[in-house]
Amino acid sequence: MLPVVALVGRPNVGKSTLFNRLTRTRDALVADFPGLTRDRKYGQANYDGFQFIVIDTAGVHGEEVGIDAEMAAQSMRAIDEADVVLFMVDAREGVTAADQNIADHLRRINKTAFVVANKIDGIDADAARADFYELGLGEVHGIAAAHGRGVEQLLKTCFTPLLEDYPDILVQAPKEATVITHDKDGNVIDADGAILDADGQIIGQVSDHAEAAIDYDSLPLKLAIVGRPNVGKSTLTNRILGEERVVVYDLPGTTRDSIYIPMERDGREYILIDTAGVRRRGRIDEIVEKFSVIKTLQAIEDANVVIVVIDARETVSDQDLNLIGFAINAGRSIVIAVNKWDGLDQDHRDEIKRELDRRLGFVDFARVHFISALHGSGVGNLFESVLEAYASATARVGAAKLTRILEAAVDDHQPPLVGGRRVKLKYAHAGGYNPPRVIIHGNQVDSLPGSYKRYLTNYFRKSLGVMGTPIKVEFRESV
Ligand code: GDP
Ligand code: GDP
Repeated sequence: MLPVVALVGRPNVGKSTLFNRLTRTRDALVADFPGLTRDRKYGQANYDGFQFIVIDTAGVHGEEVGIDAEMAAQSMRAIDEADVVLFMVDAREGVTAADQNIADHLRRINKTAFVVANKIDGIDADAARADFYELGLGEVHGIAAAHGRGVEQLLKTCFTPLLEDYPDILVQAPKEATVITHDKDGNVIDADGAILDADGQIIGQVSDHAEAAIDYDSLPLKLAIVGRPNVGKSTLTNRILGEERVVVYDLPGTTRDSIYIPMERDGREYILIDTAGVRRRGRIDEIVEKFSVIKTLQAIEDANVVIVVIDARETVSDQDLNLIGFAINAGRSIVIAVNKWDGLDQDHRDEIKRELDRRLGFVDFARVHFISALHGSGVGNLFESVLEAYASATARVGAAKLTRILEAAVDDHQPPLVGGRRVKLKYAHAGGYNPPRVIIHGNQVDSLPGSYKRYLTNYFRKSLGVMGTPIKVEFRESV
């Protein structure tokens, strides 16, 4: 689980600037869900060794009416969902009435909030900060979002108290070290604990290697069902569980928590991550929290395989694509379920398929299923693809086989010349699983063009028969 940080403040104080800075290192997911948000943006931040989810709220001043009040209410909900609020003010303008209103609200709801005085570049930072103590929210942190000054210190201050509850907050640099390490002679140790010499020959095996010790087949498969509001997630969840097995769940305390439902199917254990909220029996009208972006993002982070549900009766929206994009970035396996396939005539179906082909090209490795959660058709087949994707994500492939595939790829299509010298790719081995990573060692690998990297990625995907999971190919300069 990643903690959630909301950026709050009146317009123009620099919220977007900070949001962009925090999410830049990772392809920012900017999800903007109609009916739910107007201009609220969600991103996964990865900054100075910390990772978290960040929400950029619409500017609020606390006195809005009409549509503005609606927007303000949305921002307030973002505040509710957050673990930490960064309350941004403009160091150059001093305290305004709007700042006071927001501060009053934050004090009332008793949320962990940090006052962040932005734009301290080129001014007397201490004098500017001093002004904002009158907001009554304690320490005032000076930053210049546009230049990054003070940001690292700010994150350290707000995350240190959260580390115990959210160990994932720290980007796991050591994880890399357990996946690929070197022994004392400089030989590579791959994800399976194989020791490889400089030519990629296996010369030994480390028996107690962390990654090699994971037995994926015996772990319950964590399966998240995600999608926009009303696409049919609850209907699908209930269908999968079987009506009679929907019991009354003790509902978790906050709206951002998904429900984790253990289940078994064909002798395999699963944990269904239900982002939709199962209805309480006997209280059909009480639909427990229908949709939360944060909940969805957390569920994707935590899952092994994600079923993205799309509504056949709506055009594929940017939000659908954003969710898929987020799942790909997170390295999750994906199955796409186009729901509400019942009762559509052939012309309509053909048209939908054409649109899907056009818009889902970037996720061509995922299986697409046409289902009716309502009637149950196609639902069982989803599991074949879920298992296939999980198997692809966790299949063990030795260095010898990966190196043979690399050689075949290079034979078919030589790497380009760079500065008169041909880029040399020497050998490949496993860098990790779930998602599968292939590490290629060679010379001048930094100069490989993106097109050749994509060619290699596709070659490995095809040769390994990887389906439903993004595969990552990485390059290391040989010593
Ligand atoms: P938002 O409305 O709160 O999202 O504010 P923006 O991020 O759009 O920023 C508003 C203005 O402040 C823009 O013109 C930014 O370039 C400027 N700005 C943001 N951060 C800084 C900063 O650290 N220093 C200075 N001098 N200007 C900044
Ligand atoms: P959620 O918000 O994603 O959980 O969506 P629900 O499961 O609550 O479904 C939203 C609406 O779509 C409800 O009225 C369902 O009855 C309807 N629905 C769900 N699945 C199907 C389906 O396969 N076919 C049709 N025709 N309607 C469906």
